[in-house]
Amino acid sequence: MTAKIIDGKAIAAELRARAAGEVARVRREHGLTPGLAVVLVGNDPASEVYVRSKHKQTQDAGMASFEHKLPADVPQAELLALIDRLNRDRNVHGILVQLPLPKSLHTETIINAIDPAKDVDGLHPHNAGRLAGGFAALAPCTPLGCIILSKSVHASLEGMNAIVIGRSNLVGRPLLQLLLNENATVTIAHSRSRDLPALTARADLVYAAVGKPEMVRGDWIKPGATVIDVGINRIPAADGKTRLVGDVAFAEASQIAGAITPVPGGVGQMTVACLLVNTLRAACAIAGVPKPAV
Ligand code: NDP
Repeated sequence: MTAKIIDGKAIAAELRARAAGEVARVRREHGLTPGLAVVLVGNDPASEVYVRSKHKQTQDAGMASFEHKLPADVPQAELLALIDRLNRDRNVHGILVQLPLPKSLHTETIINAIDPAKDVDGLHPHNAGRLAGGFAALAPCTPLGCIILSKSVHASLEGMNAIVIGRSNLVGRPLLQLLLNENATVTIAHSRSRDLPALTARADLVYAAVGKPEMVRGDWIKPGATVIDVGINRIPAADGKTRLVGDVAFAEASQIAGAITPVPGGVGQMTVACLLVNTLRAACAIAGVPKPAV
């Protein structure tokens, strides 16, 4: 059996196009231009790539994009003062502080300073708590993307057995909550879980968010399961360069799974598309206009 490859690139492009259509509509009907501010501290090359891509895609969707680059040694008070200005800026509806931050800064304090209404990364405890309580919330973008990819295969996730491998605040935990909202039955696994292969073998939906190259093997997968690989790992390639692999051994798993996301071209594509959607939703909520149809 060879799995259907879930085309994250195409699904993300379609989502971006729908978001752009709704951005044009809210501007036309309500005079509202959603604005996203991205704050980058330091010059981590991977973060710079993400921030550039966010900037371009935000503008392409017809939204305003504000970039703030600060040196790695910026005092925490200065960063907090910037967040305070962005919280009060009427043109800014989404604030994203690119993580990881340099060690001199206290990430929790920085995240907690963001106005929850503008917290498009969904990391503020207000949003995490609302999500955990089953209330409407801004949810983290990568798990939102995972749900959309899953629903591109299964119209409904109701009653399906899901396993989420990884319990970070950014991916695993919010994904657990979103899956519960979809009425899936969820197991969440982590580094202390026992017999991960057996736990995984029970799952109709497998989400790997571990950060360990190709850890999830093909023989862990239940035949026909849907596999969503969140992992992005750079490993040495034969030509002396590096290549990207996921947390799932794709060549093996794609022989067993019913559907699987590739890396790259899977979940990674969805994250920024969902950020645009979150910014649009935040803008509508802040401006008091009806929810967008995306
Ligand atoms: P974290 O390092 O924050 O969390 C990793 C999780 O995996 C932890 O809960 C950890 O368990 C668990 N884990 C580690 N080793 C094992 C193991 N051997 N068996 C079972 N569980 C294990 O990572 P993130 O959640 O931030 O990211 C996960 C992956 O997703 C990374 O590859 C990252 O690059 C990628 N990523 C991709 C994004 C995208 O847009 N596609 C966005 C964000 C992340 P414990 O809690 O016990 O330590």
